[in-house]
Amino acid sequence: MNILREPRVTLVARPQFVEPAHLAIAWKGPSTDGERLAEFAGRLCYMSQRNPAGRSTAEYLENILKQGHGSVFEHSTYVLLLEGISRSCTHELVRHRAGFGYSQLSQRYVDESEANFVMPPAIQGDPVMEEQWQQAMASAQASYVGAVERLMQKYRWVESGVHRRKMAREAARSVLPNGTETKIVVSANVRAWRTMLELRLGEGAELEIRRLAVMILRTLTTEAPALFGDFEIYPAADGTECGRVGYHKV
Ligand SMILES: Cc1cc2nc3c(=O)[nH]c(=O)nc-3n(C[C@H](O)[C@H](O)[C@H](O)COP(=O)(O)OP(=O)(O)OC[C@H]3O[C@@H](n4cnc5c(N)ncnc54)[C@H](O)[C@@H]3O)c2cc1C
Repeated sequence: MNILREPRVTLVARPQFVEPAHLAIAWKGPSTDGERLAEFAGRLCYMSQRNPAGRSTAEYLENILKQGHGSVFEHSTYVLLLEGISRSCTHELVRHRAGFGYSQLSQRYVDESEANFVMPPAIQGDPVMEEQWQQAMASAQASYVGAVERLMQKYRWVESGVHRRKMAREAARSVLPNGTETKIVVSANVRAWRTMLELRLGEGAELEIRRLAVMILRTLTTEAPALFGDFEIYPAADGTECGRVGYHKV
């Protein structure tokens, strides 16, 4: 049984901006494709491609963030692969609907006999709780393996092996705990990521999803500082990291 103590966030896709030659922008300052796409969309609204105020991309986008013109940020989409997170964490994550797309590991199709388990941050470091928690995970996993075996017998009349395994696993998974590791591909546009991050970085957010949000923020800020650089990470009362947004979208 493999115990995971922190998530893994991998960027798997970023925007590719293709500038139309007939509406070329007088760019200023360094920028990435996702940032240029947002600036291009914003400038189209006022046909200000000549950049009369002489703003850099970072300055231009900060002004848009300040004014709360959220729709400009819906064009740039970043896709992340999230691993090492629990099913309870993704249950909270997928509540974010507007602008999000999800593809998650199926417990009906995938054998969970050797699944990993994600230890909640609050339990980590307490030897007694860690031991009790690991025993609970091991016991649940053993129940799962036993249930799959019996269900495979029960459904031995089902001709298709794929279908039989699916029928067994879809019932047996009910004994797997919330801490079972899952993997999920999440695509979201910048406006949607910003909303999710604001909610899940807060001190009131559950610790695992908050830790994930901090990692996501760091990944996205590295990718597109002008789109996420107004967020601030700071230590919460309990010493863990949390964060707040600079320009809240009403
Ligand atoms: C600290 C915390 C505690 C929570 N506790 C609970 C809990 O106990 N129980 C629980 O069930 N959930 C809980 N949630 C989840 C919460 O209720 C939301 O489901 C989640 O935060 C997603 O927010 P959202 O709906 O604004 O996001 P999105 O679905 O991404 O929507 C973003 C915005 O788009 C608009 N929008 C989206 N869909 C619609 C629609 N159908 N109609 C109209 N406008 C729409 C709204 O303005 C919305 O704010 C909690 C969340 C947090 C951060």
